[in-house]
Amino acid sequence: MTTPYPYPWAAGFYDDGDRPQIVTSRFRYEDSYTLDRYLSTGGYEGLRKALDSAPGAVHTEVRNSTLLGRGGAGFPAGVKWGFTPQGVWPRYLVVNGDESEPGTYKDRLLMELDPHQLIEGCLIACYATGLSQCFLYVRGEMALAQERIATALDEAYDNGYVGKNVLGTDFSVDIVLHWGAGAYVVGEETALIESLEGERGMPRLKPPFFPAAVGLYGKPTIVNNVETLANLPFIANNGSAAYTAIGTETSPGTRMIAVSGHVKRPGVYEIVNGSTTFRDLLYGDEFAQGIRDDNDLKAFVPGGGSAPWFLPDQLDIPFEGREAGQAGSMLGSGAVMVMDATTDIPAAALTLVKFYAHESCGKCVPCREGGTWLYRILERIVAGDGTDADLDTIREVGATICPGEMPHAASERLDLEARPFPYQMTTICFVGPSAYVPVHSALTLFPEEFEARVTTREVRTMIPVTAAPAGGET
Ligand code: SF4
Repeated sequence: MTTPYPYPWAAGFYDDGDRPQIVTSRFRYEDSYTLDRYLSTGGYEGLRKALDSAPGAVHTEVRNSTLLGRGGAGFPAGVKWGFTPQGVWPRYLVVNGDESEPGTYKDRLLMELDPHQLIEGCLIACYATGLSQCFLYVRGEMALAQERIATALDEAYDNGYVGKNVLGTDFSVDIVLHWGAGAYVVGEETALIESLEGERGMPRLKPPFFPAAVGLYGKPTIVNNVETLANLPFIANNGSAAYTAIGTETSPGTRMIAVSGHVKRPGVYEIVNGSTTFRDLLYGDEFAQGIRDDNDLKAFVPGGGSAPWFLPDQLDIPFEGREAGQAGSMLGSGAVMVMDATTDIPAAALTLVKFYAHESCGKCVPCREGGTWLYRILERIVAGDGTDADLDTIREVGATICPGEMPHAASERLDLEARPFPYQMTTICFVGPSAYVPVHSALTLFPEEFEARVTTREVRTMIPVTAAPAGGET
């Protein structure tokens, strides 16, 4: 290849270790995104096998694989497909390629480095569930992903994989590539559907707008994540038993995890689901290889910017949704953000809050107002101008977004282990709580860092008071 490879680390990054690679097996090749490479490495064989079976049998195979959705909720894809009502047509597949959760960049790699795998996954899903139209919604800022998917789609149409009478069968399907405009909230499935219809990307109320029943153009719609669909060629090709042989019973297969922050080797890793632990991922030789400069680990975010933080004594929790939930957080979008001992915790929380406050669509008050309040107050504290009252106000604002009992004091840290996730919320979608979760984690786990900032402010303001004439009230 003479074309500069956009990922200088990729060649060699994905061919070490013996771990199973279901969706990243082609990442090691510089021409991984081309049709030639795809066909020479088993591409579209899963589709051929699927087309040799009845659609219902393919659906059953996916259901038996217990393939969990990779967009954040972790709901079994085969079960989700079954929620569409019988006899209502047309119905659609919408691919959620609007990946934008802080720290998350795995779907982008799948779209840029192996677009045909995604297209094949879309085709298998459409065949299994009787859909004749698929919309592939790609985040606006992902120009390379859009370009490569567009090229791959052209190739797939030209070679009879997409369009009328796929591979000479009675199955016909169209795939439309749609470019988003770059809004985080469109990652929420009903907001994505609104955007696809040409409206502002704002979430709809559930009920009644559960997409499986009332989705795109008011018709039954299956919304699947990119990585979820990218698993389908393997399942169609090798069967559900081969898939469930990897991982654990409740979390079979593999999943992609983006590791960022203070590690020696950040990147996206395909790990064995359910059994790989955070310690394996952060310290393993074939993964992130430890904390930068051999510093101590201070905290890590286990599932994208919306997830409550974990401490070093939680490193041995495996990548298993239920276990992460019982420990007070979630695996979410597959992103681990690492903070070493040098991290300024209030500033780290501020970075995340600023993002979510900015991305609020404004539809509900607790998110629209609360997120901005949290951002402004935290900004003041980080700047050294905060007061004790600011800490109370943060908690009050947080309680309007996430009502109910939440541990706040350092002495309540251990209660996190008994706290199931998610918290209650007063907002339509999860963006509202996402603005509070990082502040809550930071305040709960590292209260001394906030109190130190506030204390600094008090000391400074006390100087003229203590210097007041003798006998003066302070
Ligand atoms: Fe919009 Fe925020 Fe309400 Fe979600 S929680 S609907 S982003 S205002």
